[in-house]
Amino acid sequence: MPNPTPLARIRQDVQGMHAYAVQDSTGMLKMDAMENPHRLPPELQAELGRRLGGIAINRYPGARVDDLKTALHTWAKPPAGWSLMLGNGSDELISLLAMACDIPGASILAPVPGFVMYPMSAQLQGLDFHGVPLAPDFALDEAAMLAAIAQHRPAILYLAYPNNPTGTLWDAGVIERLIAAQGAQSGLVVMDEAYQPFAARSWIENARANPAAHRHVLVMRTLSKFGLAGVRIGYMLGDAGLIAEVDKVRPPYNISVLNAECALFAIEHADVFAAQAADIRAERAALIEALAKLPGVTPFPSEGNMLLVRVPDAAKVFDGMKARNVLIKNVSKMHPLLANCVRLTVGTADENAQMLAALEASL
Ligand SMILES: *Cc1c(COP(=O)(O)O)cnc(C)c1O
Repeated sequence: MPNPTPLARIRQDVQGMHAYAVQDSTGMLKMDAMENPHRLPPELQAELGRRLGGIAINRYPGARVDDLKTALHTWAKPPAGWSLMLGNGSDELISLLAMACDIPGASILAPVPGFVMYPMSAQLQGLDFHGVPLAPDFALDEAAMLAAIAQHRPAILYLAYPNNPTGTLWDAGVIERLIAAQGAQSGLVVMDEAYQPFAARSWIENARANPAAHRHVLVMRTLSKFGLAGVRIGYMLGDAGLIAEVDKVRPPYNISVLNAECALFAIEHADVFAAQAADIRAERAALIEALAKLPGVTPFPSEGNMLLVRVPDAAKVFDGMKARNVLIKNVSKMHPLLANCVRLTVGTADENAQMLAALEASL
């Protein structure tokens, strides 16, 4: 008899995995996770509290979730014939897509370094993941991407627009050609616009300009970086027929009534969040300028609320900043292209000053 242990019933590959690490940030300035540093003004906090207090939490989520779908659809202005589905954060949508596309031989392709959930969703669902390295300046390697699409015929191509952790908003012409190549082999393309509030462009505009070329393209967004990271609302837009199929694998009550109400409240006060995003974009420009003046420090251009920065010694900078109570992300071991790179979230003017001082002292 083998030694009986319930762990034997857990997949070996899962037992070999590391859990998604959330760094302990108690008492720290939290600049590691692209959270919006701004909170709601006190009068809006009170109003939201009253609204949440009045919700029938004894009932399963119902029509209010449909109100949220309508509000987000109106807000995003997709092409005619597109519909929208909701996820408990876009992380859930990424998992659901892998599940929906789990046909024998199916794979997922994305440029690397990129968002960790793309390979993770593939692995958990038992799909192959193909990562295609970016160019050293973090542009898409068009030839390598086209070759990988032809070779692997992936079910899903993920393009984060802009990319995490590099902040790059890739060339639209290259993306158009990748979308066409993926369409020619009947694959899907997901444009992941988690950082849309801070970016100069949205791919929704390209889809609206040429809907026929976008029948296999999904646009994914989240309210997390927008300012509701704690609320967990992601959404995905695409051709109604395609969305209807993916929506079938969604757990029926994945959006809580509290999350839905918070998100509706945020959309009603979109002007407040737009002002916060404008402040963050202005702070981003100031931060790049200040970082570029530090010896041996290279900030890369960013269209998100984060900056990828090359420093002389990433481990030393991370540890030094942590000792000064500033938590950032050391991404230097994620991919060879990120050697000695750290990722900083753009905060308020005060937070950025504190972060800069800690970084300078840690060089
Ligand atoms: C943060 C992030 C997401 C996931 O956000 P959720 O909080 O799960 O909605 C998705 N894609 C990218 C590229 C991200 O950086």
